[in-house]
Amino acid sequence: MTQEEYRRLIEQSTASQFAFRDRWEAMENDPAMSIDPERSGRILSDVAKRLNDNYPFFHPRYAGQMIKPPHPIAIAAYLLAMQINPNNHALDGGPATAAMELEAVASIAGMFGMQEHLGHLTSSGTIANLEALWVARSLHPKKKIAFSPNAHYTHSRMCNVINTESRTVDTGSLEHLETEFKKGDIGTLVVTIGTTGTGAVEPLDAILPLAKKYGVRIHADCAYGGFFTILARAEQPVIAPGPFLSLHQCDSIVIDPHKHGLQPYGCGCVIFADPSVGTLYKHDSPYTYFTSSSLHLGEISLECSRAGASAAALWATLQYLPLLPEKGFGPILTRTRHAAVSFSGLLKQHPQLKMFCDPDLDIVTYFPQPKQFSASGVSAASRTIFEEGMKRTDAPLFVATLNVESELIQRNNPTFIADAPSTVILRSVLMKPEHDSFVPQFIDELAALSNTVV
Ligand SMILES: *Cc1c(COP(=O)(O)O)cnc(C)c1O
Repeated sequence: MTQEEYRRLIEQSTASQFAFRDRWEAMENDPAMSIDPERSGRILSDVAKRLNDNYPFFHPRYAGQMIKPPHPIAIAAYLLAMQINPNNHALDGGPATAAMELEAVASIAGMFGMQEHLGHLTSSGTIANLEALWVARSLHPKKKIAFSPNAHYTHSRMCNVINTESRTVDTGSLEHLETEFKKGDIGTLVVTIGTTGTGAVEPLDAILPLAKKYGVRIHADCAYGGFFTILARAEQPVIAPGPFLSLHQCDSIVIDPHKHGLQPYGCGCVIFADPSVGTLYKHDSPYTYFTSSSLHLGEISLECSRAGASAAALWATLQYLPLLPEKGFGPILTRTRHAAVSFSGLLKQHPQLKMFCDPDLDIVTYFPQPKQFSASGVSAASRTIFEEGMKRTDAPLFVATLNVESELIQRNNPTFIADAPSTVILRSVLMKPEHDSFVPQFIDELAALSNTVV
């Protein structure tokens, strides 16, 4: 994106705001709201100065956490709507953005292949999951909610919030799951499609028939991986399509447009397969719902105020980038997936670096192999690479660290000494299409860096 392209979009957004204002009777601005150009300019440069204390999330050199800037069209649409500031808590808080929200959510439900659905945007994946777990609890009040140890840490926290017992299970073993299901006390199983740590896709397609047999509900946490469903529908899928193609059979799904959907933060989404769960939300708020008697957004969400601008941004992005394998989001995700595949291919040729596990999506996990090939040795070397990479002024490399069970490393590396229960390894989220062509250089620099520490 050039500055000129960007400026054109932003100018259109501000011009639209003043066109909107011009539709109404002229009014006088209160002097208390006037903008002093000198002071406001100075404050804004102070903000810019303070924001320098940030990592270059937009750059392929940044492959740390799940962060990248929004799409320019999302930024422009967000700005355009935000100047009006509609609130999607109810239809009359912002009719236009409420309609855009319904359309955007319907597109996402369509991507999953759901025939029917009830869903809405939330302010985050955590809140979206909370809502799904709350519905799970409402439908099976006496039963537990189960998830794997690799599920997002907020699932156990949210079970606490809703005062529901949880249990960790091994979602990778059908035998184990059947034993657990037979006990009859699990109401809902959370299956993670793209774990936050390694991007692992849990075997949803294999789990579903078993869950149906025992009457266990399935909630799919696709906060990170959901958009990869597009690639599962490609003629030649570059990911294992099975789990994605069975998502429509789940009872609820969470996806984070503010992760792979190119949206600003504040955009999660929860979708239920059975629209009748909407009745669980019944409440009485006489002052907010006076314009409509039908079920609308405020009536099917735990949150009240939400940015209508989020809906406008997502709607605009989905217009510009359709959820299709061959255009729009498909080519972007194909590139990020390819980046991870070539990263692991190149890394495997390197004597001092080792893959932790093969990537299912676009997150790679790996570790240096120091002379002292032990949990403590690998942890120390990983931390040094993490810190030194960040410190390099000319060519920094931003990666992340991840704690894993030492036993998992030992399984594939017989000479590894597990002198601590867990080991710190390295993790890189290659979620930008620009990562793809940068991978060979990334590996070269990473290898050079690891040579200095091992
Ligand atoms: C990021 C993530 C969450 C939490 O979502 P937030 O939007 O950060 O609140 C939940 N589950 C998974 C799998 C995630 O990757």
